[in-house]
Amino acid sequence: MAKIKRSPWVLHYDGSSCNGCDIETLACLTPVYDAERFGIINTGDPLQADIFLLTGGINGQNAPVVKQLYEQMPRPKVVVAVGTCACTGGIFKECYNILGGVDTVLPVDIYVPGCAARPQAIIDGLVKAIDLFEKRSDEHDELVRRQKHERGTKAHGSSH
Ligand code: SF4
Repeated sequence: MAKIKRSPWVLHYDGSSCNGCDIETLACLTPVYDAERFGIINTGDPLQADIFLLTGGINGQNAPVVKQLYEQMPRPKVVVAVGTCACTGGIFKECYNILGGVDTVLPVDIYVPGCAARPQAIIDGLVKAIDLFEKRSDEHDELVRRQKHERGTKAHGSSH
């Protein structure tokens, strides 16, 4: 993994999981797996979050909530689906109330398989998410720099 320039904050949302993947996700934050060594902090505030980690499938009730949380997160952002339910709907896929995996409502970047997903697999997914977040952050910074430069050039040109 490349050197981390920022500490990514993770927003965890439980869609309609059995809680198995949530317990494994929380285990990642304990000293045993210690996800904080990558600078990862679990936040409950979408306005501060960089990585959106979801467990469980999407249903009619949580779909608008998930979309709203995603919209509230600042750009750039990365979405991680943890566990088979979040990836595809899993064992609940045929239930009357399940629409499917997270990608039925959001653009998912990283899929972490498993039922339940193992902490090692979740951390592996988060490390990939950090790499992607760094790349998107660099692209975003470059875009902002170019836009500032263009605005400055236009302002300078119009003063003549
Ligand atoms: S993937 Fe398995 S452990 Fe995870 S939420 Fe679904 S049923 Fe539960």
